[in-house]
Amino acid sequence: MPDAAPAGAGRERLSGPQRALRRLGLVRPIDLALHVPLRYEDWTRVRPLADARDGDEALIEGEVLACEVLLRPRRQLVATLAVVGGGRCTLRFFTFYPSHQRALAVGARVRAHGELRGGWAGWTLVHPRLLSPDAPLPAGLTPVYPTTAGLPQPYLRTAVARALQQADLSETVPPEALADLPGAGGEPWTLQAALAFLHHPDPRAPRTALDDRTHPAWQRLKAEELLAQQLAQVRARRERDALRAPVLRAADDGLPWRLQSALPFALTGAQQRVVAEIAADLARPTPMHRLLQGDVGSGKTVVAALAAAVAVDAGWQCALMAPTEILAEQHFGKMVQWLEPLLAPLGRGVAWLTGSQPRAQRQAMLSRIAAGEAALVVGTHAVIQEQVTFERLGLAVIDEQHRFGVAQRLALRHKAGAAAAGMEPHLLMMSATPIPRTLAMSVYADLDVSTLDELPPGRSPIVTKVLAEHRRPEVMERIRQQVAQGRQVYWVCPLIEESEALDLRAATATHAELAAALQGVTGADGRPVQVGLLHSRLPPAEKKAIMAAFAAGALAVLVSTTVIEVGVDVPNASLMVIEHAERFGLSQLHQLRGRVGRGAVASVCLLLYSPGESGRVSESARERLRAMVETQDGFEIARRDLAIRGPGEFLGARQSGAPLLRFADLQTDEPLIEWARRWAPRLWQRHPGQAQRHLDRWLGGKLDYLKA
Ligand code: ADP
Ligand code: MG
Repeated sequence: MPDAAPAGAGRERLSGPQRALRRLGLVRPIDLALHVPLRYEDWTRVRPLADARDGDEALIEGEVLACEVLLRPRRQLVATLAVVGGGRCTLRFFTFYPSHQRALAVGARVRAHGELRGGWAGWTLVHPRLLSPDAPLPAGLTPVYPTTAGLPQPYLRTAVARALQQADLSETVPPEALADLPGAGGEPWTLQAALAFLHHPDPRAPRTALDDRTHPAWQRLKAEELLAQQLAQVRARRERDALRAPVLRAADDGLPWRLQSALPFALTGAQQRVVAEIAADLARPTPMHRLLQGDVGSGKTVVAALAAAVAVDAGWQCALMAPTEILAEQHFGKMVQWLEPLLAPLGRGVAWLTGSQPRAQRQAMLSRIAAGEAALVVGTHAVIQEQVTFERLGLAVIDEQHRFGVAQRLALRHKAGAAAAGMEPHLLMMSATPIPRTLAMSVYADLDVSTLDELPPGRSPIVTKVLAEHRRPEVMERIRQQVAQGRQVYWVCPLIEESEALDLRAATATHAELAAALQGVTGADGRPVQVGLLHSRLPPAEKKAIMAAFAAGALAVLVSTTVIEVGVDVPNASLMVIEHAERFGLSQLHQLRGRVGRGAVASVCLLLYSPGESGRVSESARERLRAMVETQDGFEIARRDLAIRGPGEFLGARQSGAPLLRFADLQTDEPLIEWARRWAPRLWQRHPGQAQRHLDRWLGGKLDYLKA
C-alpha cells in the first residue's frame, strides 16, 4: 500500500520518537524517504592512527588499558585505548552512564567513532560513539539526519531504512524529460537509485559533490522537487482559469479617461503599458491575478486608481487595502482628490474603513458599501472583516502585498458580494520589493507580473552616504541648513528588535535632541521650525494629524520609528537620516530611502552606523550599507538582498511556515528551475496521472498556500 498515512493516526498512542517524527512532518514512508541526511560519517573501515590528522573523523579499534572517573577539573570518564595498528588514544566523556563503564572495562575491545583531536598529550576522542567490535562494518557511509529532541539518530536511521523499502518510488518523470535534464550525460539516475545513494553513499563517492549538492543524485532530487513546485503552480493557474470573474470594461470616454485627463501629470510610458495590461485582464471573464511591481516612487498608486476607475465605470465596486493606517489614510486622501469629483455627479463616492474609526462612522460606511453607493473602499485589514459586505466587488487591490498573509488575500477574494454570486473579484497586488528572477520563475510562477521600470520624469538621484555615529553633529548641521531653506527631513530611529518600548525611548530622546538643536531656526516662511514625533503607539487620530502636518509642511522634521517605511509620499522631503542603519535589512533601507527623492529637489540619504560594543560592524551589515551607496535600483537591491539573506524575506507570508524548497537553491539551480518550468505544463498535458502522483508525493496535503 503506497504512501498512505497510518490508519487511525489521530487516536493511536504514539511513542516519544513517533511523536517526534510527526513533529518533523515525517508521517508517510515517502516523507521519511525524502528526509535526506545532513551529512555522513565513515564507519566503513577501522583506521590506524598513523595516517590520522587533527580534526579527522575516524573509527578506531583497540583494547582498554585504563578507565577511571576523574572529578577534576570536572567530572568525567576517561579511558585509554591501545589502538590497533599502534599508538594510544584517550576517550573522554563528560556525560556517561554505567553502560559506558561496562563497555570500557579494562581489557575489553571496543570501537570508537568521533572527531580526532591531536594535542600535545596525544590523540583524544571526546564523546565518541562506542560500537561493538564484533558487529560487521557497514558498506556505505552512515547517514546523520536532521532531527529533533526525543528522536535519536539510530531510531531515525532504522525508520528511514524501513521507509525506503516501503515507499512507492516509481518514476513519475517521463524519460524524455529526464533526458533533457541540464548536465545529464549518460543514463539518468532513477529516483530510487538517487535516494538509495543519498541515504547510504558509497564511501568512495566524492564527498565535496555530496556536500555542495552537485552530485547527479542530488541534481535528480532537486529536479524532482522543483518539478513538484512548478506542477503545483500550473495546477493553481488552471484552477483559477476555471473560475469566473466579472468582465470589467470602461467606456471610451468613461472614468479612466476622465481621470487621466484630470491628472496634473502625464503617465510615464511604463505606467501606460501597465495600465493597458491590467485593463486587458479586467476585460476577461476569469479572475486577474496580477502583481504590479515597481520600485519605490515609480507611481503605482495612480495605476491602482486607474484600475479602480475601470471597475467603477463598468458598474462594479473596488477595494484598496494597505498594510498600515498611515498608508491607507494617504491613499484615501489621494483617491478622494482624484476620484470624488468624478464620482459625486454619479451619486457615488469613496468610503474609508479602519479598525480605529468611531462606531457610528463605521456603521455609515458599512451601509454605503453594502448598498453599492461606495464605489471605492479604501482601508486597512478592516476591509476584509466579516461585517463588511460588498454589493458587487469587481476588483481588489492590495498595496505592499508582501505585508499581507495568504489568509488575508483569500478573504478578499471571497468577498465578491451577492450581486456577483459564483464569481471572484479580480486581484491586483502591488509591491515595491521586486521579486528576483529565479523566485519569480519558481514560487510566483502562477502570477502574472507587470513591471514599472521607469520613474516619473524630473526626479534627481538620491545621494547616499554612510557616516559613523560620531559625526552626528555634522548631520545636525546639515538638517539646520535644509530646514532653513524650507526643505523637510525624515529621521528614522533605530530598530530595537526585542522591544517596542525601547524603540520608543530612542525615538523620544532623538526627538528632544533635534528639537533642542533646531531651536531658534526659522524656515523659509520665517516661522520657527517644528519637529514632530511619530511612532506606532500613538492613537491613530494623532498619527493621522502628525502625518497631515508633515505633508502640509507645518512640521519641518519628522522623527519616526519604521512606521513610515512603506508608501508614505511627501515630495518636499529631501533629507533622510537613518540612525543605526546597520540594524536594518537591505530592502527595508531601500524602502525607507524611497521616502525622499520624490520631488525635483536633489535628495540625500544619510546612513548613520555605530560599531557597538565589539567595535565592529558585522560583515553582512557592511555589505548592506555598501549596496545602498552603490545602487539605487530596486532590482539590483533585491538581487543583493537575496544573496545576503536567502529567499525567506521575499516569500513573506506566502511561505506560511513550511519551507518551499528543501533541496534546491534559487541562486545556484537556475538551470534546473528552467527545466522544471519547461516540463511542468507538458507533464500535466501528456501524463496527468503521473503529474498528480508526483505532486502528492512531494506536497502531500500542503497546497493551500498556492491558492492565494
Ligand atoms: P509608489 O510606486 O512608491 O507607490 P507613488 O504612487 O506614491 O509611488 O508615486 C510617487 C509620486 O510620484 C507621487 O507623488 C505621485 O503622485 C507621483 N507620480 C506618479 N506618477 C507620476 C507621473 N507620471 N509623473 C509625475 N509624477 C508622478
Ligand atoms: Mg506606494
